[in-house]
Amino acid sequence: MIILLRKRDLFLSLLFCCFAVGLGTVLWKGNAVPAFAAGEEDGPPLTVVIDPGHGGEDGGAVSPGGVSESAINLAVSLRVSDLLRFAGQRTALIREEDISVGDGNLDTMRQRKTSDLKNRVAMVNAVENSLLLSIHQNSLPSSPVTHGAQVFWNQGEGAQALAAVMQDALNMGINAGNKKNPRQIPDSIYLMKHVTGPGILVECGFLSNAAETEWLQSPVYQTRLAAAIAAGFLRGLTEGDDL
Ligand SMILES: [Zn+2]
Repeated sequence: MIILLRKRDLFLSLLFCCFAVGLGTVLWKGNAVPAFAAGEEDGPPLTVVIDPGHGGEDGGAVSPGGVSESAINLAVSLRVSDLLRFAGQRTALIREEDISVGDGNLDTMRQRKTSDLKNRVAMVNAVENSLLLSIHQNSLPSSPVTHGAQVFWNQGEGAQALAAVMQDALNMGINAGNKKNPRQIPDSIYLMKHVTGPGILVECGFLSNAAETEWLQSPVYQTRLAAAIAAGFLRGLTEGDDL
């Protein structure tokens, strides 16, 4: 019990230090050009709209053992929102429970899923000066050894540069010995293609990998993921003139 508590305390201290390093980097680069007009006096403040992918009857990707991504997406998203708010960043969440945001009266699941995605687009685009941060889990059953977190970016201004910084944070905090590169989102991802502002999608891990599926369900690992994502975002907010 004592050992467990000490381990937990150690982890929390470590987590705080990691997050503080992210914040410290932001403060240190405080004179850099803000990325998304976050500090302009005449425009609305930047809002990070966090999208926990799927929900309700749409569980998203499923592991061979039956673990759905939707609950993991929500757990990580809530943590990212808490950390960003703690750092003073305005956020909004597409959902805060295990629900769909589509029209539940439609006849087929396909229609309800389409409605859900269109509503998500509308929710993001209704927020002035928004940045979409979509949280998902990956699956590649043909390669059960594949694992790790990867960042995707859309065509919006600054998204590619932010994705690079966020991928760096995830490579350091999550992908030890398994470095990944950020990629442009495929056209098939409706939400990311139809939002008018910048969009980032994080595939936190692979449900087709048995060990990673266990980690992804762990609250401690979910917090580690969220800390890396939040620290990456905060660095990206102020880093580089090209954002
Ligand atoms: Zn998904």
